[in-house]
Amino acid sequence: MGSVDRPSVLTSPAPAQPPGARVRVQKYGGTSVGDLDRLRKVAARVQRVVAGGERVAVTVSAMGRSTDELIATARELHARPNRRELDMLMATGEQVSIALLTMALQHLGVRARSLTGAQAGFLTDGVHGAARILRVDPTPLRRAFEEVDVCVIAGFQGVDADGQVTTFGRGGSDTTAVAVAAALGADTCEIFTDTDGVYTTDPHLIPSARRLEVIDYDEMLELAALGAQVLHPRSVWYGRRYGVTLHVRSSFDFRPGTLVRRVAREEALMETDRPVTGVALDMEHARIDLLGVPDEPGTAARIFGALGAAGVSADMIIQGVRGAGDSRQQMAFTVPRDLADEAMDAMAPLMTRLGGRAELDLGVAKLSIVGIAIGSAPGIAGRMFEAVAAAGANIEMIATSEVRVSVVIPAAKAQEALRRVHAAFGLERGESDESD
Ligand code: ADP
Ligand code: ASP
Ligand code: MG
Repeated sequence: MGSVDRPSVLTSPAPAQPPGARVRVQKYGGTSVGDLDRLRKVAARVQRVVAGGERVAVTVSAMGRSTDELIATARELHARPNRRELDMLMATGEQVSIALLTMALQHLGVRARSLTGAQAGFLTDGVHGAARILRVDPTPLRRAFEEVDVCVIAGFQGVDADGQVTTFGRGGSDTTAVAVAAALGADTCEIFTDTDGVYTTDPHLIPSARRLEVIDYDEMLELAALGAQVLHPRSVWYGRRYGVTLHVRSSFDFRPGTLVRRVAREEALMETDRPVTGVALDMEHARIDLLGVPDEPGTAARIFGALGAAGVSADMIIQGVRGAGDSRQQMAFTVPRDLADEAMDAMAPLMTRLGGRAELDLGVAKLSIVGIAIGSAPGIAGRMFEAVAAAGANIEMIATSEVRVSVVIPAAKAQEALRRVHAAFGLERGESDESD
């Protein structure tokens, strides 16, 4: 990028780092910036990197649970807040944390500047609440780095071509950070969070879960998409697409965490004799049952067409087997819990026309095992179902692919089923793993 001579009156003195200094890309999640004390600690960590001769592009999330609080406030005013306005509101959470972190950095004498998603060059499509990044223009960040050593970027937001504020979906700050890394040509993006890496399952649910040293993009993408909240699925997709290694690590200590990168299949298979790499539990879906649906061509197309038109995509789908002579059948599918009302609204008029009815069940959970060798190792699904049965959970739906098996079970049995499935595949921490 051509750098023009800038009148120095516009800005503070020249940055400490030379123009060619490497840019380190980091992201701090909500818990890591949960209060002012933690914010100061993050500032001190960033300062150390600058003192070491690098510049830093830091993405931050909203503080603590403030995004949840913003949504709850919106719901007090309207049962189903307009998605554009909700984006406008949610985007403010990250704006608070970027401004405060920048102030904390400036207090330490670090030249820092905050940037909203729009200011950092994030152009997205116009899907409010689930926007996809179309392009990240690196120019604003490069320009800012001519004047400061640290750019603090608001996570999970951008603007569409129309200038409307958009957000990327819950947990989307990870994606901002990896997209920044890709735009700046960095080979690594550090994701600082409240655990010290990616585990075989959520370590807050199963304390005996084992930390992984490294995990392949494909497996991580599956785990993230199936509910392992540690990384936003799009961030993993971005990392894979642009060859950025994600380093998931703790913001509370300095030990290395888990690397998410390309792992050759042979390497992956040699590293472990276990066919399953991880187990994910997703409590964020609801089940919709359609009863008395006509068993004739075009019915599924009408149902899922109406759902799509309402902006909802179904996850797992089953179609019931009907008895001989029946002309009606049953169907069920899962949808994201926060879109369940929209889905039910879309089904109601259609069911009236079809002579059936729709029922909503919020008490379901989806449990999934992930591993690149699942498709080629016989008996894996059976072993999982046995462990689920031992937890007393009835399997309501099943979906499989080369790299995963998922079941929908009653939410009340989910924790116990997770524990048993995790143990059944030998994923618990062993004696030799006790070092940390
Ligand atoms: P942040 O606010 O830093 O983005 P998140 O809450 O989004 O943090 O993600 C970190 C959480 O993800 C952990 O506290 C943990 O409870 C959860 N989690 C779920 N699955 C896993 C997993 N396989 N490995 C590590 N953490 C996981
Ligand atoms: N603040 C947003 C959320 O809570 C984005 C993020 O934290 O990644 O979902
Ligand atoms: Mg997160």
